[in-house]
Amino acid sequence: RTGWIEVICGSMFSGKTEELIRRLNRAIIAKQKIQIFKPALDKRYHTQNIVSHNDNSIPSTPVGLAQEILQYTNDCEVVGLDEAQFFDESVIDVCETLANFGKRVIVAGLDMDYMGKPFGCMPQLMAIAEFITKVHAVCMVCGEVASHSYRLSPSGDRVLLGEADLYEARCRRCFNLGELAE
Ligand code: ADP
Ligand code: MG
Repeated sequence: RTGWIEVICGSMFSGKTEELIRRLNRAIIAKQKIQIFKPALDKRYHTQNIVSHNDNSIPSTPVGLAQEILQYTNDCEVVGLDEAQFFDESVIDVCETLANFGKRVIVAGLDMDYMGKPFGCMPQLMAIAEFITKVHAVCMVCGEVASHSYRLSPSGDRVLLGEADLYEARCRRCFNLGELAE
């Protein structure tokens, strides 16, 4: 049986985690064995579960290095990864190895950082994936389709863990307008 890679990407609040949980729940209904991972640095809500902004959650294993995923996935059929932009670059090989072993690999992550630039290994993962779904949020300024994550605080660090207090979803135009959009 062949494996494959599915990528779910989009801005913050676009429903990536919600969509990942939806797909994994359907695999559970089909009695498939699943394993879910997230980077250990993402501790915003819960150290074990992955949690969406509308409070769906599913148990997961936090891992420091992407390679650790291979130790936990021997007998599972579906592997889910959330916040994939925060994994180290070996995540590309790990996803490929899992898919080559016949597993369905579902990867969710931010396609762009707060500067609007491609984030981490997401471009490479999108290149090697069989399927890509780009989900969208609602622009918090104008209500149009939002593709960008706008940072409300002045920090210049690429990784600044936060939620609606620090980021808002914006369409391209309101993202580019910055503070002037408000
Ligand atoms: P992601 O993983 O992409 O950050 P989640 O799956 O965690 O997204 O959350 C999606 C949920 O976030 C939506 O169902 C909605 O309840 C909520 N939400 C908050 N702000 C927005 C927004 N600006 N646009 C769309 N959904 C939003
Ligand atoms: Mg998420």
